[in-house]
Amino acid sequence: MEAWRRKLGVVEKLRTMVDIKRVERDHHAKRLPRPCGITIHTGVGCPLACAYCYIYDMGFPGSVRPYPLTPLEMAYAIAANPHVAVGERGTLVAVGSVTEPFLPETRELALGYIAAVVEHLGNPVQVATKYPPPLELAKYRADVLISVTDVEGRLEPKAPKPVERIRGAGELVKRGGSATLFVRPIVPGVTDRDLERLLALAWDAGIRRVVFGTLRATPAIAARLRSFGVDITPYIRRLEEGRQVPIKYPKERLVETARKWGFEVLPASCASNILAHGQKCALCSWGPCGGVPEVDVEDVRDFLEYRGYRGADPHFDGRRVVVKVRLKRGDKIFLEQALRVPVVSQGKARHLS
Ligand code: SF4
Ligand code: SF4
Repeated sequence: MEAWRRKLGVVEKLRTMVDIKRVERDHHAKRLPRPCGITIHTGVGCPLACAYCYIYDMGFPGSVRPYPLTPLEMAYAIAANPHVAVGERGTLVAVGSVTEPFLPETRELALGYIAAVVEHLGNPVQVATKYPPPLELAKYRADVLISVTDVEGRLEPKAPKPVERIRGAGELVKRGGSATLFVRPIVPGVTDRDLERLLALAWDAGIRRVVFGTLRATPAIAARLRSFGVDITPYIRRLEEGRQVPIKYPKERLVETARKWGFEVLPASCASNILAHGQKCALCSWGPCGGVPEVDVEDVRDFLEYRGYRGADPHFDGRRVVVKVRLKRGDKIFLEQALRVPVVSQGKARHLS
């Protein structure tokens, strides 16, 4: 299979340049990608202490330590991860899920990771930030999610003001870069009140896509929000220690307002990564995004035979690839990452290896 050969070629090339034993122990080389892709951590911890942040409940500290892999090592870790498809049409890469990537302590490293992934792997990269995005991102064709919850940044007192972030994104857009307004989390009584002003700022900056994201709460998050004067209890039935519970907030009005402005409202951040790179994905039920990808069934057959399956007889029904054998989990995930459509098994297992 072309995607598998490409992956092996990149791994082969990079393995001579890094300490492979050390890198292969890192979770980036092992973690299962989700339909929305794989995340790259640029640091451990975050000092910005946004009121709604979930990372502190996950045990991350309130200061940041740059992630210990070099850019080349990170590129190798992602390429060597057996479930990740490498290349322009490969696994979506998202930078900065559990920290702010452009903190002064990690800014260069984050840019280094993005450059290394784009140059050595070629995968579509997206980065979420509460900082004005570095203008170099335009040359990596990275999609930038400008993360906001209100106009003043009331719940993010240590981050640069949303107006600076959005104006920074406008500069990036002028240089040919891609930026999306990422209204996440929607905090009831805060985000909804400011939405028109946020959308106006984004529109003036040349941003034309928006993603809305739900607030996930824990008892600690609810308590921190309360100390900022925000009460989320009417929106949540029960909070549980150690579990993030999504709050029930009707997004429809926000979506309708954004559409009236002329924004394209996307179902998830990965959709923005797909569209920014002019690609297609139909891997989850929120899609298809950009259309349903074409599938080369002979290429899939080639991969399955190489992996030891006999009688798989794959076919594409226009939305899913159906095979007549039960696939090992890792093979199924790799195929889905490489094809961006679901792969379903019908029939009994006939794996020969
Ligand atoms: S910037 Fe992101 S990771 Fe840092 S505290 Fe805010 S929400 Fe959490
Ligand atoms: S179909 Fe769209 S929302 Fe679903 S994983 Fe693909 S890009 Fe994301």
